[in-house]
Amino acid sequence: MPKKFGKGTRKCKNCGTHRGIIRKYGLYYCRRCMREFAQKLGFKKYS
Ligand SMILES: [Zn+2]
Repeated sequence: MPKKFGKGTRKCKNCGTHRGIIRKYGLYYCRRCMREFAQKLGFKKYS
């Protein structure tokens, strides 16, 4: 049986990984994708 993480499994919207998901902004991206996303938006925090 697969291990569950709370209400459903948190997956990265972009690549679907379960690792390092950031849901701080309600985006559900992993750290890696968040970095790409942040760069597109111009966030310097993650660049
Ligand atoms: Zn990802």
